[in-house]
Amino acid sequence: MRTIAVMNQKGGVGKTTTSVNLAAALARMGSKVCIIDMDPQGHASFHVGLDCGPGADTIYDVFSGRSTADEARQLVAENLSILPSNIDLAAVEVELASTPGREFILRDSIKHWKEQARFDYVIMDCPPSLSVLTINALCAATEVLIPLQPHFFALQGLSKLFETTALVNRRLNRGLKVSGVAMCLYESGTRLAADVTEDLRHFLTSSDADTPWANTKIFRSKIRRNIKLAEAPSFGQSIFDYAPTCPGAKDYADLAKEFHALSAGLTGDPSDTKVEASQAA
Ligand code: ADP
Ligand code: MG
Repeated sequence: MRTIAVMNQKGGVGKTTTSVNLAAALARMGSKVCIIDMDPQGHASFHVGLDCGPGADTIYDVFSGRSTADEARQLVAENLSILPSNIDLAAVEVELASTPGREFILRDSIKHWKEQARFDYVIMDCPPSLSVLTINALCAATEVLIPLQPHFFALQGLSKLFETTALVNRRLNRGLKVSGVAMCLYESGTRLAADVTEDLRHFLTSSDADTPWANTKIFRSKIRRNIKLAEAPSFGQSIFDYAPTCPGAKDYADLAKEFHALSAGLTGDPSDTKVEASQAA
């Protein structure tokens, strides 16, 4: 079971679009996939057609111990389920402030999925912050996938993100790796997009071999800017249901194939590093 944190502390770079459409593509290829919506905005839940009003069973109930991950999980398509979220999740930060081991709640609540081989992929759509929710995702993850929108400041934010991964890797989850960067909202043919990709490649190849991003792949499949990808969420459909022949569907199908091909060698467990959890904060 590969457990993927889709992470970038910047908003609007394509995290949710990538989480949902990559998950949908993998499910259509026959893999068993579960999305975990870690963002209190609930965009991924909405994107797959759920509208979790107050009182709905969500990931918040898992964090607060009222439901198990399987009670809160919903099947939304063949091979595809989601642990949804809504605004309730925003309270977790405060409610868990003094809970020891709060970083590991998500990891522990889905541990049996790995043991029972319940899913091939668990894809966690992270909020645009480095909050306790994102740290939970990183502690449950075997790998990080970074959607990147190529613009002038893209790489600046990335170094902070890499540092966070390194910190979590050192203190909380020894197995954590950055597996790939997916270029999103890509304007092919522009100088800037090519420059950012080249700068990133240079950064990665000149990094030490013992960093969690040493083997990070820049996916060849770029996700081009495509209006259908922006329209699909309001219909509660993945791009494959909403507009299966559009360039956005092709790009995510290609990305999924590339992503799936990485499976060899990346199936390790999130490590059980026993650390005073509070050290990480
Ligand atoms: P994040 O989760 O990082 O905040 P989103 O995935 O929600 O980012 O994307 C931000 C906005 O851009 C959304 O309105 C989404 O529909 C739109 N969007 C994302 N990727 C594309 C794309 N390749 N082409 C066009 N619009 C996109
Ligand atoms: Mg989002």
